[in-house]
Amino acid sequence: MAPGIIKLRRHIMFIKLFTPGKIGNLRLANRMIVTSISTLTATDEGYATEQLMAYLARKAQGGWAMIITEYYAIAPHVGYFPRALGIWNDDLIKNHTELTRRVHQAGAKIAAQISHAGREIYHGHPRENAVSSSALKDVYGEFKPREMTIPEIKKIVSQFGDTARNLKKANFDAVEIYAAHGFLISNFLSKYTNHRTDEYGGSLRDRMRFLEEIVKDVRAKVGEDFPVLVRLSTKEFVPGGLSIAETRVIVKRMEELGIDAINCSQGIVTVSNNIVEPFQVGNAPFVDIAEEIKKIVTIPVITTGRINDADLAETTLLSGKSDFVGMARASLADPDLPNKVLAGRWDEIRHCIGCNQGCIGNNVRGEICRCMVNPEINREYQLDLTKAVDKKKIMIIGGGIAGCEAAITAARKGHDVTLYEKSDRLGGTWLIASLPLSKGELVSLVKWQISEMKRLNITIKLNSAPEVEEIVALSPDKVIIATGSQPCLPPVSGIESQSVVQANKILTQDAPFGENVVVIGGGSVGVETAEYMAFCGSSITIVEMRNEILPGLERETKIGLKEAIRHYRMDVIKSAKVVGIGDDYVAIEKNGKQIRLDDVDTVVVAAGSRSVNKLEAPLHEAGILTQVIGDAKQVRNGLAAMHEGYLAGYGA
Ligand code: SF4
Repeated sequence: MAPGIIKLRRHIMFIKLFTPGKIGNLRLANRMIVTSISTLTATDEGYATEQLMAYLARKAQGGWAMIITEYYAIAPHVGYFPRALGIWNDDLIKNHTELTRRVHQAGAKIAAQISHAGREIYHGHPRENAVSSSALKDVYGEFKPREMTIPEIKKIVSQFGDTARNLKKANFDAVEIYAAHGFLISNFLSKYTNHRTDEYGGSLRDRMRFLEEIVKDVRAKVGEDFPVLVRLSTKEFVPGGLSIAETRVIVKRMEELGIDAINCSQGIVTVSNNIVEPFQVGNAPFVDIAEEIKKIVTIPVITTGRINDADLAETTLLSGKSDFVGMARASLADPDLPNKVLAGRWDEIRHCIGCNQGCIGNNVRGEICRCMVNPEINREYQLDLTKAVDKKKIMIIGGGIAGCEAAITAARKGHDVTLYEKSDRLGGTWLIASLPLSKGELVSLVKWQISEMKRLNITIKLNSAPEVEEIVALSPDKVIIATGSQPCLPPVSGIESQSVVQANKILTQDAPFGENVVVIGGGSVGVETAEYMAFCGSSITIVEMRNEILPGLERETKIGLKEAIRHYRMDVIKSAKVVGIGDDYVAIEKNGKQIRLDDVDTVVVAAGSRSVNKLEAPLHEAGILTQVIGDAKQVRNGLAAMHEGYLAGYGA
């Protein structure tokens, strides 16, 4: 079949996705919108840096109809994160005019989100800036906020309008009022956070007053024809929080006030697994909620939440439940997704896997937004992928995700790359990481890497682990060592007993397990393996040495795993050390006392891994240039492995 026919067919498959749409008077080329996601790449004074402009322009080139920026704080030091955008003076207007010029030139429309983080302001900001409807602290917030006085309310209303006016001056195509996720405006809307007894609290009509005043002030300052969107948490998922019934009243009122579109999200920071849904939540879990909103308004409705694929987006639109799809993380994973779909370059699309390691995970740690599957995000301003003049012979030892990523990038730079993998397949420990419940989608990364290596004609040698002499004989310019890691066995008496198995053997179904299981290790491997065995009917006890389980794991993923622990009624014993294993028992030590866990059928070990790196020293001795990456260097998460692989290939 001719390539042109294939292309035509694929385009027809996505007829809704590529139908132009309108928000107010703003014409949009298709139905795919990049919704807001923070990068932490602005300056502390609110300026858009070259890094941020290049990042947004890169997305605009990818074919998205409109980009909604990360939030513009309405005043200095009231953002959720450090380094928030702002536009409160003329110099900033000039800077942000350049930002809109760059995005327009690259082919997309751009809207700016405007916000005050309220009780969730970044802890580096002055404590007195933490204000809210009521003096109620969030469990994840740093500050207990002050209840806002009426003059403060009036001032902030006016600052929203001023910000919108300045954004219009900077040539933005629209503004979005951020009234979601437990930040200031939504604190007023929700009974959960609004305990006021004055005209801004009590009934829904009064709780809406703050938002209504903001909408009116913004409209007065931007004029009738300028598109204004509102982002709402349609359902908050906390006791007493906003319900869909209440949100229906709010959106109807927004429509009466002349709002041009409703951007539906859900959740608040307290339950952030509903805002940036991890893989456990599944795909497009909240489209039905958008439908509830769409039923009662005539203005466009945008739905968001784990829509990471063009098929899913098209199906969502075809169902009539939404007019546009918001695809924030999907645009991090692949800024070119719309254009690749249009061109039928289906296998080249990288999909967001819902890991949250690089995006919101980094943000919460106060670090620049990255993407686990796409290491180029926020590196656009300094990347040069032109072919290297000096073509090198690169050997990559190890076909896990770090080794594969190094191979792909080195080949893109024009080097001669051969990748060696000792097993019969690529993916390494990432394949095992994709086995726990709800994690199957992680494999899409390996599929993408395999397809990309094929496209780049990289030589792959499976079942191949070259020894030092063979490597030296091939005279490579560089060897990238990506030999991964191996699970550890803790030095405990009885660890060699037949009832003891490594967690990976359970996940690969290479070892049976009994009814009563003790899991040694409360990290993600231990808890995910425990969840799988509990799902199969086993009774689980997790023993963890530290005083917390799942340390370092992204908040959203942790919420889901802790829910699984509760759901399956697993016992968790923290600050306890396993000191002995017998035929049917495990002895632990806690608070200086020995305790025996009896009637144990299986002991599952999830006590971490150690690096495997046998090649570096002898190759170095033989005068071969080496670079060790990923788990072979130090056992860490997928984000570290992918980024190290990318940078090794880039700098090869
Ligand atoms: Fe998606 Fe993970 Fe990338 Fe975030 S870091 S955009 S969740 S793949």
